[in-house]
Amino acid sequence: MSPIIIENPLITKVNREQSVSGYQESAWKAEMAAAFSSAGDLLGYLGLPLDHRLANEGVMRQFPLRVTAAFASRMKKGDPDDPLLLQVLPLSDELLETVGYGADPVGDLQAIAVPGLLYKYHGRALLIATGACAINCRYCFRREFPYADGQLTRSRFAEALAHIARDANIAEVILSGGDPLMLDDGRLTGLLEAIAAIPHVSRLRLHTRLPIVLPSRITKDLPQILAGTRLKPVMVIHANHPNEFDAEVSQALSALENAGVALLNQSVLLKGVNDNVDALSSLSVTLFEHGVMPYYLHLLDKANGTAHFDIPEKAALALYEKLRSCLPGYLVPKLVREIVGAPYKVNLV
Ligand SMILES: *Cc1c(COP(=O)(O)O)cnc(C)c1O
Ligand code: SF4
Repeated sequence: MSPIIIENPLITKVNREQSVSGYQESAWKAEMAAAFSSAGDLLGYLGLPLDHRLANEGVMRQFPLRVTAAFASRMKKGDPDDPLLLQVLPLSDELLETVGYGADPVGDLQAIAVPGLLYKYHGRALLIATGACAINCRYCFRREFPYADGQLTRSRFAEALAHIARDANIAEVILSGGDPLMLDDGRLTGLLEAIAAIPHVSRLRLHTRLPIVLPSRITKDLPQILAGTRLKPVMVIHANHPNEFDAEVSQALSALENAGVALLNQSVLLKGVNDNVDALSSLSVTLFEHGVMPYYLHLLDKANGTAHFDIPEKAALALYEKLRSCLPGYLVPKLVREIVGAPYKVNLV
């Protein structure tokens, strides 16, 4: 197989060749270290001028630009409205204060059972495995989550697991974040073994964008680590647009599927990114071709700085109606929104 050289000028020296046996951990760590962190570098790579729509330094400090070369390589050169670019480019629109938007749009803070552990829905417990992400999505609902106090650290680990062990109702542990696959294989193995040692837990779920935005994170060992405990592994990838898939993503997803990881997708309906029936139906079809079932299509969670992505409910419903008209039922994700205090994510139809 010929080496894949990503065109990011910052990392032209990193040879991301995937050997027959798959990626080593050093590949994704090198790629993370070389991720784009400046709008100028990213726009330059795409052949675009510095944009008048860009956010100022204040926004950048609070929630910096971050995007991997793998994700950037799928953006269309010279297109300022590329749907992948718009997911990561900090715009001055983020400074708008909008009524109804806040720091904790989904009620995470009131769901904290002990630091690092959220309890919101029956039978499921969610661990904030880490605050780190491979890319910073501008629409993120946890962009102001207090990770310093609220993520699982080594010292909080025992307490959070003891809490799950005491509650026999918990059949599923969800690893979230941040992105739980930012933990390396060693840390994940330890975490999974500790969870698998709790007899009443039978399912393990990971919510992660890394198969999409950093496919080299699917190391040769990772599929077996996920499938290697008695827990049934489920992975929810977060893809929003069909252009997010390429050959490398395809390989990563195949490795997971072949190991027996159940693959689901959830997307957020985002203005300018995927708010049209072509993008959404093509996303569903592409997911299915990659062994991933569409699960949720979320209305935007109203986090500060994200109002420019919002699609009003009425428009979302009209779009959803069109989507249902052109896809088989099993490729139609559930259209949901999160309502603080509701016992599940609420279906719009
Ligand atoms: C979304 C979410 C879940 C999972 O909900 P499902 O409907 O099972 O996908 C669990 N816990 C928390 C805190 C969540 O936000
Ligand atoms: S990967 Fe998830 S948690 Fe991280 S910035 Fe994107 S939406 Fe937020």
